[in-house]
Amino acid sequence: MATVGFIGLGNMGGGMAANLAKKGHDVRAFDLSKDALDRAVAAGCLAVGSAAEAVADAEFVVTMLPAGQHVRAVYENEIFGAVPAAALLLDCSTIDVGTAKAVGAAAAAKGLAMVDAPVSGGIAAANGGTLTFMVGGSAEHFARAEPLLALMGKAVIHAGANGSGQAAKIVNNMILGATMVATCEAFALAQKLGLDPQTFFDISSKASGQSWSMTSYCPLPGVGPETPADRDYEGGFAAGLMLKDLKLAVEAAQGVGASVPMGGAAEHLYQAFANLGGAGKDFSAIIKLLDGSFKA
Ligand code: NAD
Repeated sequence: MATVGFIGLGNMGGGMAANLAKKGHDVRAFDLSKDALDRAVAAGCLAVGSAAEAVADAEFVVTMLPAGQHVRAVYENEIFGAVPAAALLLDCSTIDVGTAKAVGAAAAAKGLAMVDAPVSGGIAAANGGTLTFMVGGSAEHFARAEPLLALMGKAVIHAGANGSGQAAKIVNNMILGATMVATCEAFALAQKLGLDPQTFFDISSKASGQSWSMTSYCPLPGVGPETPADRDYEGGFAAGLMLKDLKLAVEAAQGVGASVPMGGAAEHLYQAFANLGGAGKDFSAIIKLLDGSFKA
């Protein structure tokens, strides 16, 4: 049994911390939200009064926070000054590559071991312990992180050096955003051209138009496997989070001079959808922007 300091017990972190507690670890939990803390206690964690207190005796520290500024502030102001030198720090939030590298370098400068370990998979995967972790850090730190992450996920993959986990995550999600837009506009066009949606799915899902967005996450209700489209686009992966990841990808591309016109187009479309009030819907609901049927 290890002592784990867990900071950020929201939609994702709540389920992840619960899984660590369920596997017998001593989880010292902190969140700014009292509701989140109460849920963590009900799931077997011990609530503490600050992030610094959560990490004071920790062998592992896991953070699952909204964005780069939260991660930087919590590590710089709370964790670095309080954590034992032998602890392993794991940031599982999805943040910009630059901040991930900077915080990792700051940890290294203090002699602390740190990996970035963002996840693929939504709230159901966090609750069910079936996340996929993409890990950036040294081989030695990855080897230490893997057994703990495996308690919260179905796959733990070493992406490369510090920051590579975040890079893999946002580049993967840039593909997802672009293919979802392409799949949605294709369905909208197919219908206007008089094709039956199920027939088009049967053809395209076995032809060269096939992608995960088509076959595993079909954006039309009643077509293909059950998806958020069958629940009026509730649940699943929010369009606002897809927009966040696309912004991170485009920002990272600008930082290294890479050309990502498809990623940029997807970002603009998700921004337009969010401006119309669609941010809380599943990201496949962008089909309603593209076929003109969206009503906020
Ligand atoms: P969330 O907003 O539900 O949870 C974040 C939690 O962090 C909140 O409970 C908030 O109170 C807490 N927090 C913020 N600042 C804090 C601080 N200084 N100290 C302590 N607690 C603080 O977000 P989420 O959906 O759990 O997502 C967390 C991360 O995981 C994000 O980076 C997100 O992009 C990523 N992610 C989310 C999903 C998803 O489907 N929700 C999927 C993959 C990755």
